[in-house]
Amino acid sequence: MKNMPNPTYDIIIVGAGPAGTSAALFAKRNGLKPLLLEKSVFPRDKICGDALSGKSVRLLRELNLLEKTRGLPGAHIKRITFSGPKYQQFDLYLKGDSEGKNDEGFSIRREIFDEMMFRSVQDADIDTLEGFNVKSVNQENGFVTGVTGIQKESNEEFTFSSKILLGADGYNSIVSKELDLYDMDMEHTSVGIRCYYENVKDLTDQIELHYVPELNPGYLWIFPSDGNRANIGVGLSKDDAKQKKINLVNVMEGILSKPPFAERFSEAKPLEKAKGWNLPLGSIHRKNYGNGFMLLGDAAGIIDPFTGEGIGNALVSGKIAAEIAKQALSVDDNSSNILKAYDTRLWKELGSELKVSTKLQNLAKSKFLLNFVIGRASRNQDIREIISGMLSNEIPKEKLNNPFFYLKILFY
Ligand SMILES: Cc1cc2nc3c(=O)[nH]c(=O)nc-3n(C[C@H](O)[C@H](O)[C@H](O)COP(=O)(O)OP(=O)(O)OC[C@H]3O[C@@H](n4cnc5c(N)ncnc54)[C@H](O)[C@@H]3O)c2cc1C
Repeated sequence: MKNMPNPTYDIIIVGAGPAGTSAALFAKRNGLKPLLLEKSVFPRDKICGDALSGKSVRLLRELNLLEKTRGLPGAHIKRITFSGPKYQQFDLYLKGDSEGKNDEGFSIRREIFDEMMFRSVQDADIDTLEGFNVKSVNQENGFVTGVTGIQKESNEEFTFSSKILLGADGYNSIVSKELDLYDMDMEHTSVGIRCYYENVKDLTDQIELHYVPELNPGYLWIFPSDGNRANIGVGLSKDDAKQKKINLVNVMEGILSKPPFAERFSEAKPLEKAKGWNLPLGSIHRKNYGNGFMLLGDAAGIIDPFTGEGIGNALVSGKIAAEIAKQALSVDDNSSNILKAYDTRLWKELGSELKVSTKLQNLAKSKFLLNFVIGRASRNQDIREIISGMLSNEIPKEKLNNPFFYLKILFY
């Protein structure tokens, strides 16, 4: 146990991605003593589009990490470009909030961004353990009591205890599996592949989502990155990928070799073999809490079904989980009755935008509707404003639940 952190904590967090690091930092801010466990050693890659949206920027600002983020190698983003199956396109400028803040985004490789988050946790004097693979969740009388895992370097087994466990361990969450909550059904999960390229032409301050016919209802993304690099990938629902027997790597290479993308990729070189990973979407509401535990980020399945963004929601879930953990520990009650408040707050904050994105995801299944809406948006500023408001969660919930609102977009 030499140099091992103290084995008893207020909360143990499994996984040091955006959800886990956010939870650790907010927990410390709430006066708790967290332990953050991570199976990899930083810097480590994470397959992702790397785009940080306005929501991520808001949370990074709250964590006093925005300046640090701005200083990382990457691309500064001001616009999102959408194009439809007929390749009409429109741009949305990131609007920010009513105070004019958070009107920017970033594209920063996760190898760089996640390490910055992890080192910030360490700088905040929070106990961390890298290269520690959590193997099991310990329970007593129906309550989670801690975790056991292996320190990879020494191959030694250690057990840590806490009143509350946060599962922030991503798509394949060992915490949710051990607690019988793993529910990543094909209908509500997408699959994406990513490949870094160099020398892609015409990269600016925009991230691009192209709803190309070859992938319908999925999309191709082209995101600028640091230096001469771009993050290129495609994403599609697992159901569609399986039913249509789509090989994502072949399809992506095919799309990039033909107009309208061929010219931009004529001198481009892949810097790696394309790699794939899954995206658990928030198009259903999965159970995310119980006696002594909460699930965060991808472990809770809260990725935006339309854009595939999950970092912002992961950061939000970390903040809420830390605050609920504080409340639970202050009344010495870690039962599901108290931790249910996490689910309530999480879905109060994210539920309406996840519903809208699910509607947009369904709309994207029809090439006709997608062409129609994107065609209209490319010609009409008012439609662009409405879509921008929908994506930035500015349009009131009642409006979004009214079918006439969608007719308005179609026939504005
Ligand atoms: C192809 C693709 C493209 C994407 N593009 C974007 C994008 O552009 N923008 C965006 O916002 N989102 C994007 N996402 C989604 C985004 O990557 C996730 O939503 C986000 O990473 C979730 O953060 P998290 O902290 O919940 O999980 P993760 O980032 O997956 O972190 C989980 C951590 O837990 C650790 N861990 C796992 N198991 C254990 C264990 N047993 N013991 C200890 N540690 C463990 C892992 O090593 C990892 O560090 C994309 C996803 C994919 C697959």
